Amino acid sequence: MEKQLERIGLVYHPDYNMDLGPHVFPARKYQMVYNLVKQDPKLASLYIYKPESAREKDLALVHTEEFLRDFFGLKLTERTQYSELPLTKQIVQSFVLAVGGTILATELTEKYRFVYHIGGGFHHSMPDRAEGFCYLNDAAIAVKLYQLRNPGKKILFVDLDLHQGNGNSVVFQNDPNVFTFSMHQENLYPKKETSGMDVPLEEGTDDQTYLQLLENSLERIVSSFRPDLIVYIAGADPFEGDSLGDLKLTFQGLRKRDKAIRDFALKTNARAVILPAGGYAKDFHDTVTIHYNTIKIFAAD
Ligand SMILES: [Zn+2]
Repeated sequence: MEKQLERIGLVYHPDYNMDLGPHVFPARKYQMVYNLVKQDPKLASLYIYKPESAREKDLALVHTEEFLRDFFGLKLTERTQYSELPLTKQIVQSFVLAVGGTILATELTEKYRFVYHIGGGFHHSMPDRAEGFCYLNDAAIAVKLYQLRNPGKKILFVDLDLHQGNGNSVVFQNDPNVFTFSMHQENLYPKKETSGMDVPLEEGTDDQTYLQLLENSLERIVSSFRPDLIVYIAGADPFEGDSLGDLKLTFQGLRKRDKAIRDFALKTNARAVILPAGGYAKDFHDTVTIHYNTIKIFAAD
């Protein structure tokens, strides 16, 4: 008999709050999501796990030696500059810690049905270069380690960020045990890679169209791929108030999106790691609210 799983685990570290200077990426959102969790009577009692930094040999499961050398050496080169982020010691440490957080979250699926990492989801990072605010691909590294410990297990990426999860599409392109599914606005960064399934969306896509496409896609995927572990990239940027995108999902629509993934995981008896990824709402607090709502949905019975 399967041992009883606890419902939700949380992972967070205060050092995710890195100083990026004046930048569109709101790194202080992690701390604010954490604060909301601590103030929530239903969530405040949950134990919050604090990760350690990932080891360099873990990073090397995905990233090339040349890229890691530039990154740790704080060198702006063709391998690091497309992060479009500054490169300081603090930022390096914060990313290495966030990788440790997603590794820990993935390990904790031994104990919890769902684990939300208040950090991570840097899905544009490629093996040999940084891209789009992402230096290290935390989820790809965590999945590689998970595979070493759990050979043969099936892993499904459900990437519902505004942007295509191009890094994971590339890393797992030839891995039959990993299926990458990405639903994203088509006419935006990044240059598209080929995922297991891509669902390109037009500008102005609303709740109803989005949720219908999501349901149809999940049904198609599960007809041939039964996941043991889902990595849910729960970006806040499909939101109608986002400054980088043109999708029109409402708060309510995003809650239904999260609920669809939660119910899909329960139905398929898969564990899930949930990562916040992007979010650039014109009102910064909306991004925080959307991530917080995701935690509440996965924590609910
Ligand atoms: Zn995004």
